[in-house]
Order: sequence, then C-alpha cells, then structure tokens
Amino acid sequence: MAERKKILCVGLVCLDIISVVEEYPEEDTDTRCVSQRWQRGGNASNSCTVLSLLGAPCAFMGSLAAGPVADFIMADFLQRAIDVSAVAWQVKGQTPSACCVVCPSSGSRTVLLYDTDLPDVTAQDFSRIDLAQFKWIHWEVRNQNQSSGPNTHHDQVLVVFQVFVSKDVARHFGFDSPEAALKGLYPRVKKGAVLICAWAEKGADALGPDGLLLHSDAFPPETLVDTLGAGDTFNAGVLHTLSNGGSVQDALTFGCRVAGRKCGFHGYDGIR
Ligand code: ADP
Repeated sequence: MAERKKILCVGLVCLDIISVVEEYPEEDTDTRCVSQRWQRGGNASNSCTVLSLLGAPCAFMGSLAAGPVADFIMADFLQRAIDVSAVAWQVKGQTPSACCVVCPSSGSRTVLLYDTDLPDVTAQDFSRIDLAQFKWIHWEVRNQNQSSGPNTHHDQVLVVFQVFVSKDVARHFGFDSPEAALKGLYPRVKKGAVLICAWAEKGADALGPDGLLLHSDAFPPETLVDTLGAGDTFNAGVLHTLSNGGSVQDALTFGCRVAGRKCGFHGYDGIR
C-alpha cells in the first residue's frame, strides 16, 4: 500500500519550561511551584503532536540549532513519530525557549518566549523538499503572530486557503469577538478563503466565501487544568478534519471538542 500523504506544519519549535502555580505570582516574589516540566513547544510543533495523537501522519519544518535543547526536542519528535526530515539545521543562533506559567485556578497561561536570534527557514530550504508527499501544508505566520494554512494538492494544483487568526491577533487589530474579527478581517484574505477564529471559552467561528458565519461552542472540561497549546490543539483538530474532506462546520466542532478535552489535563497525552 502506498504511504499515506502527510500534513506538513511549518513554524516554530522551542523548549517550553512550564511551571504550574496555584496563583499567578506577584512581581519580585519567591514562589514554590505545584509542578514543573520540560515540554517540546512552539505552535506548529504542538499541532504536529496533536495530529500524531489523532493518528494523522505529519511532518514538521522549522529551524533548530544543534545542542542539548535540540537533542531534547528531536527525541520528543521521534517518540511521537513526527517526520523531522525537513528540519532546517542552523549554524548560527540558539534554539528558542519559553518560560510558561500555567495557572489552573484561573485557566491562564503566560508565556515568555525568546526566539529572535535563530534564522528562519528559507524558500531554498523549501525547494529541497518533495511537496508531493504532503496532502496539506499548514503555515504559522510568526512575525504577525498569526497562522495560515494553504491546502496544496501538488499534483492536482488545487490551492485553497484556510486561514486561522488567533484571538490575540484579533484583539491586536481592535476586535473584541470572533464574529467582529472575521467580518473585519475577511476582506483582507485571499478570494475564496475560509477564515477561522478560535476564542477560548466562546468556542470558534468561521467565515467562508458564501458569507455564512459558522460557529461551534466550546466543550469545557469538567475541571480546567492547562490551556497552554489549546489554540494549537484546535488548529490540529481543524486540519485533521478538513484534510480528510470534512466540512468547515465539522472541523470547527471537532477542533473545539479536542481543544476543550486538552484543557482538562496537562500536556497532550490524554488526547488519544
Ligand atoms: P490560544 O490562546 O491557545 O491561541 P484559545 O484560547 O483561542 O487558544 O482556544 C482555542 C480553543 O481551545 C477554543 O476554541 C476552545 O475550543 C478551546 N478552549 C480554550 N480555552 C478554553 C476554556 N477555558 N474552556 C473550554 N475550551 C477552551
């Protein structure tokens, strides 16, 4: 049987050093954490983790610099059976890392990321990979802190855009709800695209070329534990559904279902 085509996620991978706290700490205080762990992080990298747990073959493309942090990250990619052959190894710069404070009592996650000195993948890196092995390519547009996913059927030359805008970006543009963000930003995306916006406990909305606003409620877990990576989990759920030919409504609902479940435990392992 021919190998199943993969979903490629292009974007950031970093080391997340996660501290779980009872209450968000005050500045200039000394606090003991409830727990602490290292986790492979980064939006595109997290979406790969979830895709892999959902049983979808996937590949990651992004930059790494050799060293102990990259060793930790690579071991985790391999353990999740994520294809890393498109990783761009950089000779300058350091692998990014993030300090993350997860606070279950409020449901907040606060992230401090340092990723400014590692060169990004280039068009040349891209030209070296065989795009025919992918059924879908998801792009994290990092400078604007925004993700977009071109669905590139290489052979059939069918290119559809499905664009995610996070609530952080939507707020940055002055929108205070997913509906407002979709209506306000829709004229700026490629003709025919579907624009998707997730909004924490409000669930997620989508707007396509037919002008119909679609919505899924959130699926809150019994107890809110860890919202770090909820958006990446939502994106993976949407990609998984759309790349299997599902409707946008089904994708929204599945994305919210998986992301809501993920908020009920630490990390990603409970998804399977
Ligand atoms: P991020 O801030 O990580 O980009 P969001 O907060 O927008 O992501 O959440 C993405 C999705 O995760 C939401 O659409 C929702 O389905 C789910 N989610 C996030 N936070 C919660 C929550 N507190 N309760 C239920 N679902 C949530």
